Amino acid sequence: MRADPIQRAVDEDLVRVLYAQDPIAFCTHWFSIAVLVAIYWGDIPAPHLFVACFTFYAAANCAGLGLWMFHRRWPQAVAPRDWINLHALRGVLLYLAPGASIWFAFHSSHTDLPVLHTVMLVTLAAGVFMSNGFDVINFATAIPILLLPSIILHLSAHTFDRTILAIVLAFFFCAINVYSASYRRLFRKVVEARVDQQYLAESLAAQKLVAEEASLAKTRFFAAASHDLRQPLHAIGLLAASLNDPLATPSQHAQTADHIARNVEALNQLFNQVLDLARLESGVTQVIRMHFRLSELFERVGNQYRPQAAARGLALRIAPTTAVIYDDPVLLERVLSNLLSNAVRYTEDGAIWMGFRRSGRRDGGFIEVRDSGIGIPEREHGRIFEEFYQVANPQRDARQGHGLGLPTVRRLVLLLGGDLTLRSAPGRGSTFRFPVQAGDPGRIVASLNDAPVPEISSTRGRRVLCIDDDPSILQGLSSLLGRWGCVVQGVHDEAQALRAIADGFAPDAVLCDYQLANHRTGAEALQAVRAALLRHGHTQTVTLLITGDMASSELEALAAQGIPVLHKPVTAARLRRTLEMLWQRAGRGAGQDTGASGGAGGGADSGEAAACDTLPHS
Ligand code: ADP
Repeated sequence: MRADPIQRAVDEDLVRVLYAQDPIAFCTHWFSIAVLVAIYWGDIPAPHLFVACFTFYAAANCAGLGLWMFHRRWPQAVAPRDWINLHALRGVLLYLAPGASIWFAFHSSHTDLPVLHTVMLVTLAAGVFMSNGFDVINFATAIPILLLPSIILHLSAHTFDRTILAIVLAFFFCAINVYSASYRRLFRKVVEARVDQQYLAESLAAQKLVAEEASLAKTRFFAAASHDLRQPLHAIGLLAASLNDPLATPSQHAQTADHIARNVEALNQLFNQVLDLARLESGVTQVIRMHFRLSELFERVGNQYRPQAAARGLALRIAPTTAVIYDDPVLLERVLSNLLSNAVRYTEDGAIWMGFRRSGRRDGGFIEVRDSGIGIPEREHGRIFEEFYQVANPQRDARQGHGLGLPTVRRLVLLLGGDLTLRSAPGRGSTFRFPVQAGDPGRIVASLNDAPVPEISSTRGRRVLCIDDDPSILQGLSSLLGRWGCVVQGVHDEAQALRAIADGFAPDAVLCDYQLANHRTGAEALQAVRAALLRHGHTQTVTLLITGDMASSELEALAAQGIPVLHKPVTAARLRRTLEMLWQRAGRGAGQDTGASGGAGGGADSGEAAACDTLPHS
């Protein structure tokens, strides 16, 4: 994985090192030319050849400087490896003349000249070792050209001292080759360490950037969330204070109470949206797939939004489809609801279209929600999926939403294994699209739109055991359930609950808070209560845990125990619908459950009953 970047870094460093020495080498070679010409000056053998040889040497030296200047001016003209090869070619041309010109020494009458020339060559070889030893090609082409002719000519002189000189030269040749090899290994290690360090620094910088962005996003999230939560709270505070006004008429009181209820509902909806997102983030939302007709889901969601669309003068068109898909209808319904609600909200006139397209897919296809609305500028396409981000609501008017719909949709689609895509431009409407898997018509168990069997949907006469260590919550729950006609027994802990059962109270439902006194959890209490109920032969009792806890491990444990969970704050309507659903299912028997999300038999909350105030269809 890292081999290529390292080789490239080695090459880049080699180019730097090789070319950095060239101006010095240029001067050295002029000095060498001058010295060699000077020592041969008294007796120049084969003058024409000599002039040609040294002219070539001087020209090659100038060409070498030309290459250096070219590299300096246009360093990116060729790849680093090519610069290295060009430098090696320069070396071959440059060292050819001094290496071969020792032949003149052996054809001169001066017996000292071969030794003097050899000393000059050894000096040049030492320079090559220092400046080109890092690169095998530059080194391996220059050194033999410089030294081999000299070794051969000294050996072929057949005298004792020349043979010794040839042996010393050969030893020098081998030694600098060995040193150069270890020199290269060291060089590579240094470059590797530098690249690693650079890589580390870059990844640290990238991580820092991600952390900073995450922290910024979190700050934005909390700023927007606290604003959106404060607004209704502030209104509730003011309205509640006005309830104390002795001059207010009963109808004004009723109006104030109505406003308070509406603000509480708004607050509750916001909480639910945030909790929904948190649940999706924490991974406790279960996907329960089934085979069903897509047209039934379209009909169901379409019916919810047709009145709103009509009220705004918009046509809501649902493309007829015979497609059967294999997906989680409850989660899919939440996706479509969010997309349709946005389409209605951001379309002034024209139409909204929802349909299924195969788009060339053999297995499944895509669901599309399209509108002819205001559209979204391209630069906002990424940001609208951030929590609390809205394109045009700087005053954060809660009536225009909170910017949590699309983040939820995107996470839901991801959870279902797809990818949400958006095509939109200002004034040209928006199209949201995501893939769905094909289902098997032969495996459809029930219609999505079957009406729930109204077996035991009423709460009247039901016996409910409430366990909560907070007296005010116990009081609130008891009076609410009492108003629904339930017979309520409120207890503070597990021991009192067991005593009530032992005393003959046979509950149809047990509601339990999660955090109880004496370090007991609701899950533990419910386990004990269930065991006691079974001992007394009460097999139809449903249990429900109410928690403000979002820790996924806790919820997973509860799901494993088959205990349905509701998250605080729990509205009266949600509690009632959940209880009715649980009683209905208990009445039908667990075996007939078709497995919609968050079934009575368990599931981390969850389900939709808790999450969005709708009942799962079974
Ligand atoms: P909101 O509650 O504000 O609708 P969303 O997360 O659903 O929150 O959407 C975020 C932003 O994306 C909206 O404020 C809106 O500006 C833009 N948006 C979403 N859907 C559409 C659409 N169909 N047409 C135009 N703009 C849209």
